[in-house]
Amino acid sequence: MNLADSESIARKLLAAGYVEESLERADIAILNTCVVRQASEERVYSKLHELRPWKTPERTVAVTGCIVGKEGENLKRRFPQLDSVVPIGEYDNFIAELEARYDYSLGEALPVAGRTGVSHFVRVIQGCDHNCTFCIVPKVRGRERHVPVDAVLAECRNALEAGAREIVLLGQNVDDYRDPAGRGGLAALVSEVEKLPGLRRLRFMTSHPQDLEPELLEVMAASDVVCRELQLPVQSGDDWILKRMARGYQTRHYRAIVEKARRLMPDLGLVTDVIVGFPGESEGAFLNTRRLIQELEFDVVHLAMYSPRPGTYAAGNMPDDVPADEKLRRLNDLLALQREIAARKTARWIDKTVEVLVEGRDELGRTYGRIRQGKRAIVLGPGIEAGELVDIKVVRATAGQLTGTAVGSRAA
Ligand code: SF4
Repeated sequence: MNLADSESIARKLLAAGYVEESLERADIAILNTCVVRQASEERVYSKLHELRPWKTPERTVAVTGCIVGKEGENLKRRFPQLDSVVPIGEYDNFIAELEARYDYSLGEALPVAGRTGVSHFVRVIQGCDHNCTFCIVPKVRGRERHVPVDAVLAECRNALEAGAREIVLLGQNVDDYRDPAGRGGLAALVSEVEKLPGLRRLRFMTSHPQDLEPELLEVMAASDVVCRELQLPVQSGDDWILKRMARGYQTRHYRAIVEKARRLMPDLGLVTDVIVGFPGESEGAFLNTRRLIQELEFDVVHLAMYSPRPGTYAAGNMPDDVPADEKLRRLNDLLALQREIAARKTARWIDKTVEVLVEGRDELGRTYGRIRQGKRAIVLGPGIEAGELVDIKVVRATAGQLTGTAVGSRAA
């Protein structure tokens, strides 16, 4: 979501005639922030301190992102070098302020568009209507606001015309998407977007087990364009802990979704998030999570140790009663388990031919992209450009990525 917000403001600035520069040469520094954890909030403050010697009367320092929802204009009192506090998505006023400040009217004609990569993020919902007890997002990003289908389609068309090949529909809880004019939920939106000419891949994230429409899985399974990837955070494998987290589902509901999804799409890539050491998590509750991970064999598990986030229900009402060393033991145990599962699961690709959408070159100069199940892949072979769909024969597989030799390319 933060990356999409950064892209959104960057595109608007580029379209208004600004160019990207090193901090040393720049006139304007915009800090896009995440406060999902205390540590990320602390990093924002330390960055703002770092910018103090950079700031001069001619230069602008602005802050946007989740910290604006949490701290608002208080930030200016604490950091007097800060010129602007910009709420997420409200970039037009900020750019108008900049235009009043910096007169570039004698410059060249404005470019008509910003930049568009192979993958283009389109935010379809802002905010979240859930109230998971550990999560600060509803407080800082507010209640859900849904982008109308026509506006989503228009943004996708523009991106495809400008060279994008993949669209990623984004929402904190993308499954809760509803067109404000009553034209349906995410399944209906995905069905519309997938028909757009020039589109090679369509992904969406992040899903929520309580809100996932059953027909969405059918739309995915029937499509050649929608990726075979589901990002479905479970957070815990214990029903009592799920209730304390206010997640709104039980493990049997989660299992039923995975079972149906895998029945329709046996090659599905399944990604989840898990928190260990949530308040009240007994050894038995932890073992339930461990069993769920063993049983469902996820492709990727994003693991986190619980830490109380001031401002959340859990931080105010549930004692953080799992000792830090015990949280760490649980985390390391699940990391080791998942490493072993992921290695076994990725080995299934060896000697298979898979399709890669090429995204570019990495820092070592290697061509890379993603397969339809979301896994990153290095493509061996000459003359392959970003945006191409390439078939590779997989020669190596690690938990993190595949490596394969190009055996054929399809028109981009
Ligand atoms: Fe936070 Fe996701 Fe729960 Fe919304 S659904 S409150 S974003 S964890």
